[in-house]
Amino acid sequence: MRYLLTLLLLFAGNIIFPQTPDVSPDNIMPVRGFCIAAPSPDNLERFIKFISEELAPRKVNTLILMVDYNYEYESHPELRNPSALSKKEIKKLVEVCRKNNIRIIPQVNLLGHQSWAENVGNLLKAYPEFDETPLVTFPEKYVWPNSDGLYCKSYCPLHPDVHKVVFEVVDEICDVFEADAFHAGMDEVFYIGEKQCPRCSGKDKAELFAGEVRKVRDHLAFKGRKLWIWGDRLIDGKTTGIGEWEGSYNNTYRAVDMIPKDVMICDWHYERPDQTPVYFAMKGLSVVTCPWRNPVSAVLQVRDMIKFRDYSTPEMKERFMGMVQTVWSGTGQFLDSFYGDTSNKETYTDAGCFKAMFGEIEIQIVKANESSQR
Ligand SMILES: [Zn+2]
Repeated sequence: MRYLLTLLLLFAGNIIFPQTPDVSPDNIMPVRGFCIAAPSPDNLERFIKFISEELAPRKVNTLILMVDYNYEYESHPELRNPSALSKKEIKKLVEVCRKNNIRIIPQVNLLGHQSWAENVGNLLKAYPEFDETPLVTFPEKYVWPNSDGLYCKSYCPLHPDVHKVVFEVVDEICDVFEADAFHAGMDEVFYIGEKQCPRCSGKDKAELFAGEVRKVRDHLAFKGRKLWIWGDRLIDGKTTGIGEWEGSYNNTYRAVDMIPKDVMICDWHYERPDQTPVYFAMKGLSVVTCPWRNPVSAVLQVRDMIKFRDYSTPEMKERFMGMVQTVWSGTGQFLDSFYGDTSNKETYTDAGCFKAMFGEIEIQIVKANESSQR
């Protein structure tokens, strides 16, 4: 009875004081993101112009910059790329983003992606002892698939010295970007818990993966920073049919129940609007959907994200955080493609997908505003 009375009072209150729905972009799509490699110094000015003239008008509010070792680290000069951004150059990026209310989240790949094709990455080049698979040597000419199952090298998460080095890198990049969040990558980790590693051999791969996520998350939390990661290792690739790239075939997916709930999941699906954001949200994790170069799928993913938010309980709604367009070519190449296509068509490219995705977000914001005025 008391419940019924409360309901009646609430209903009457709404008639007398009708609530205006919140149709601000931050409520329709809280994260409107863009993820790209940090520019090389010679593309910096073009990229800054792109931020002001293309990201800001599209109301982009989150920029994930894949920096890795493209910065002149003072804590670890041995890890710098030969041509890396200086502190002064980074501050130019910080400034233009601050002016346009864009949150920068720097990324350095942790755990996986420590090599590419036949090239070892800077971390394992300087510290070969961190290699999870020291017995796997690089072929002269890389091909996939190969007998070693070598996609990318991983560092050993149980090596006693690895975190001192990577956390100094993480702290320095977050400091220079004045960032309150950090993206650790952690996608496509194929080498984990390997037999040839004396520390990890025989251990549960899900526990190893979750242990590393927790370690990074806890380190960031000391300074009030949040952790973002890619979501593929947390999806059961076989049962879902999502496969061994967008999902995990090496049993890391059970880590979804072991990692802290305040880790943001970047759920990438490039050819289909998989409904996996619901899975992450139901596990208590916040999630953003990340398309790449398929404009048709990206538009559907935007509509899904809106639908998930509209049709959910308040508890679930707040976990469906938005969309992040990803770019996997270099920054210069992306800008060439973006400005080269003056037809403004939504082509099957990252630039075309970018235009389609932010176009659809704008349509949804306008739609919500129109219906609130009816
Ligand atoms: Zn190991």
